[in-house]
Amino acid sequence: MKIPIYMDCHSTTPVDPRVLEAMLPFFTEQFGNAASRSHAFGWRAEEAVEEARAEVAALIGASPREIVWTSGATESDNLAVKGAARFHQPKGRHLVTTAIEHKAVLDSMHALEREGFEVTVLPVSPDGLVDPDAVRAALRPDTVLVSVIHANNEVGTVQPIEEIGRITREQGVLFHTDAVQGVGRIPFDVDAVNADLVSLSAHKMYGPKGVGALYVRRRPRARLQAQIDGGGHERGYRSGTLNVPGIVGFGKAAALARAEMPAEAARILALRERLRRAIEGRIDRVRVNGSLSRRLPGNLNVSFEWVEGEALMLAMKDVAVSSGSACTSASLEPSYVLRAMGLPDEMAHSSLRFGLGRFNTEEEVDHVARLVVEKVKQLREMSPLCEEAQTR
Ligand SMILES: *Cc1c(COP(=O)(O)O)cnc(C)c1O
Repeated sequence: MKIPIYMDCHSTTPVDPRVLEAMLPFFTEQFGNAASRSHAFGWRAEEAVEEARAEVAALIGASPREIVWTSGATESDNLAVKGAARFHQPKGRHLVTTAIEHKAVLDSMHALEREGFEVTVLPVSPDGLVDPDAVRAALRPDTVLVSVIHANNEVGTVQPIEEIGRITREQGVLFHTDAVQGVGRIPFDVDAVNADLVSLSAHKMYGPKGVGALYVRRRPRARLQAQIDGGGHERGYRSGTLNVPGIVGFGKAAALARAEMPAEAARILALRERLRRAIEGRIDRVRVNGSLSRRLPGNLNVSFEWVEGEALMLAMKDVAVSSGSACTSASLEPSYVLRAMGLPDEMAHSSLRFGLGRFNTEEEVDHVARLVVEKVKQLREMSPLCEEAQTR
């Protein structure tokens, strides 16, 4: 077993060796600019980019012409939200989103508010789910875009986006979903969801960092204002010389995900349940945050009462996980996602997020579970809060 153990797959994933192998020639012998139409170097790069486009499209049931390459999902979210809002503003200036979006969506929405758009931010239930009826109720004649995350990056909850997509399609409102965490891990189909815009990122699915995509529906056509102008690449939606090795890696990662998803999802779910049962079986006052049934297979977000998540993480330095406190400048802010689910601050501070993935093993899970149990017990013995609660 290799130390440290990586269980933080919602932050990023390692590049699969098969992905790296596919990428390597495009740094050296096949270094052409995919926009160079006058020679074989350019043609070969373009061909590779188009193969990758077909693979990424196939993973989500799209046509290759609906895929726009970006530098990552942060850019995809910005392009979708700002691009759609700014294009459609003659029709209306109202947008709908949720309290548990990624910052790339929430902060794009805030930027639009400063331009005069109005944003309705929908709450979530205590188990981290958005109510489709609340989406329907929020729509107004001047609503131009609804953006709801597919699977949340902290608690792994999978939103009822099919129901939401049915409502937005029926009402003629554009529907964007940030599907970074779900695509490649669980089935996703743009037509089943009636999605108009979908953000994707390679590095959350065993591809390289710095490359992403935005799905832009052609029928009925989703229209956007470009946010990066220049040479008119990507049908004018996103100018800039393409990251050919990165795109090739994204394509390979998508092909692997499509081929291996059913077996991999089942294996990772079994590992996640093994970890959950080992922890819940051996310590009390543990609470799983977010719906267990509507959840990504590899996600476990748990709060350990009377224990600081940050302290627990420090006590297990050989295990890479995340805590429910985001270190911002000077203070430890509890996660806004856990807060939106109604968790009291102390429960948010006592949470850890495990993100299991392709390369985790049973041996690692067992080791981590033992370590968590041991360290939680130690920290509770030292905790005045715990002592107080137990003598009461
Ligand atoms: C990681 C992540 C992003 C940002 O993707 P980058 O490619 O790192 O910019 C956006 N949304 C979600 C849900 C994510 O998990």
